[in-house]
Amino acid sequence: MALDSNCLFCKIITGDIPADIVFRNENVVAFNDINPQAPVHVLIIPTLHVENAGDLAKVSPTLTADLFLAAAEIAAQHKLNGYRTVFNTGIEAGQSVFHAHLHVLGGRGLAWPPG
Ligand code: 5GP
Ligand code: ZN
Repeated sequence: MALDSNCLFCKIITGDIPADIVFRNENVVAFNDINPQAPVHVLIIPTLHVENAGDLAKVSPTLTADLFLAAAEIAAQHKLNGYRTVFNTGIEAGQSVFHAHLHVLGGRGLAWPPG
């Protein structure tokens, strides 16, 4: 199944749930996070329902690369000097939506290590 009708992010792909979409192509959709943690906080998702980044890499390494290419595109759009890309995987890492998504954070100094 390409999409899951019970999944929040699949509903954003189909337009059933509105989102502030900033980039889209055949393989990925990118939209502003509803609860931004930085001046730029975009989520990039594959247009295919998979639970997490590991599963995505198994199903399609090229789709995984597409997420990072979109991240670079978004960073260039915002003329960011640097940005952070994050996949949270699993509850202990803070994953709350189980459709793989790449966070793109930027527009401010980012501390390391993260919390
Ligand atoms: P996670 O915690 O799974 O790594 O990231 C999920 C992200 O999705 C969170 O940063 C959260 O703010 C964002 N989010 C949750 N629900 C919605 C929504 O309905 N719309 C948008 N644009 N972002 C959402
Ligand atoms: Zn989904």
